Amino acid sequence: MHLRYSYRIYPTVGQREALARTFGCARVVYNDALAARKDARKSGFPYPRSSDLQKQVITAAKGTPERAWLASVGVDPLIQSLRDLDAAYQNFFDSVSGKRAGCPVGLPRFKSRKDNRQSLRFTRNGFRIRGNRKLNLAKIGDVRVKWSRNLPADPSSVTIVLDPAGRYHASFVVDVEPEPLPEVQAEVGIDLGLTTYAVLSDGGVIDNPRFLRKAEKRLKVAQRELSRKAKGSKNRERARVKVARAHAKVADTRRDWLHKQTTRIIRENQAVYLEDLNVRGLARGRLAKSAHDAGWAAFRRLLEEKAARYGRTVGIVHRMFPSSQLCSRCGHRDGPKPLVVREWACGACGVLHGRDLNAARNILAAGQADRLNAPGGPVSPGVAIPRRARPVERGTHLGDLRPTGNRAAGVGGIPIH
Ligand SMILES: [Zn+2]
Repeated sequence: MHLRYSYRIYPTVGQREALARTFGCARVVYNDALAARKDARKSGFPYPRSSDLQKQVITAAKGTPERAWLASVGVDPLIQSLRDLDAAYQNFFDSVSGKRAGCPVGLPRFKSRKDNRQSLRFTRNGFRIRGNRKLNLAKIGDVRVKWSRNLPADPSSVTIVLDPAGRYHASFVVDVEPEPLPEVQAEVGIDLGLTTYAVLSDGGVIDNPRFLRKAEKRLKVAQRELSRKAKGSKNRERARVKVARAHAKVADTRRDWLHKQTTRIIRENQAVYLEDLNVRGLARGRLAKSAHDAGWAAFRRLLEEKAARYGRTVGIVHRMFPSSQLCSRCGHRDGPKPLVVREWACGACGVLHGRDLNAARNILAAGQADRLNAPGGPVSPGVAIPRRARPVERGTHLGDLRPTGNRAAGVGGIPIH
């Protein structure tokens, strides 16, 4: 399975200049190739092949006075830039033909010098890690890396990213073998909440962390300051960097926190069941759609990645629960209750329920039932994950949140709300 490992890197002034040149060249090559494809389409010519495009916009272009400077940077990132364009087209074609699930993908667009995030990819030919632990990039030099954790194996590629906060990261793709943890008995259902982050069927509660709220408050202050600065002024640029840094801080803190929570859940449970976010979204309606959704998607993705790696199972419950109506102990259904009702006693068996805990228990039961009823019986650990752990940039594969196969909403004994 492919995993990404990211590290902060600290290029020198000279290396930053070389990187800036390479970012620029990769962008120009990408845009030239895109323009060539658009022209071919307009003139009714067949879709240009990648190898021909490569000759045209890299090899031949280097010989022309307008593009001679392409020769001053490494060729590997330029070729990778063309691969990215191929991938963007492929995603578009697959989306049009229905092969790709999820949000429709548009045609590739031209890249701008003003894009906030710049990136470059080097394959095995373009980089290596030196004995002194520095990262050697072809035609850039030996870059200092902060190795916050060890790479588990030799990486197959590295992407250098410059974020809007002005920080550089190296993101390695590593092919690793799964390393199953010793089996445990416990299984857990998780109810994602708006007031608390999540409630677990074993009674555990994950609260929204206070430090995150603090970081978000600082971000708001920085944004307000930015909006007061005159456009084009030096002060505004300074304020913009401040906002970008605050954003980065919130994102980093959230990621660390999510890693901690998901690692613990996967360690302690053999199977984890979650509700499908799309189905849940329907229940809440458009107005209730919130920033929570993004955080939940990341939470689910991390759980799935870790389950695949450590031999655990993540099951998604693709149906909507009348969770406040259904007793998780005896299955009795005794009518809807308004949101303010946080607790109630079951009319049949008399047990006292907390609203969220009851929902988490319902999710656990439904997840376990789905697993037993799935074709071929209980799935073996880690295999239940339908998606491949592909080395794609984070946040770009919305399609993964779609219900899959025969586990569509409404299958199973519990009626749709
Ligand atoms: Zn009951």
